Amino acid sequence: MSVSVNCPTCQKQVEWSEESPARPFCSERCKLIDLGEWANEEKSIPGEPVVIANDDYNNDEQDY
Ligand SMILES: [Zn+2]
Repeated sequence: MSVSVNCPTCQKQVEWSEESPARPFCSERCKLIDLGEWANEEKSIPGEPVVIANDDYNNDEQDY
């Protein structure tokens, strides 16, 4: 009898045993991906505007 869970990252079935050291993730990679997503959510600044600074270029074109 074996117990298995779904990997939170890729939903792959993972056997809950000593053979799956990264459980409940299927692999160390999926574990890192999940941790990375958490880190990105904490770092992101909501509402920060994206400015594309090419206004000067447009002004020069209008002078012609
Ligand atoms: Zn996985």
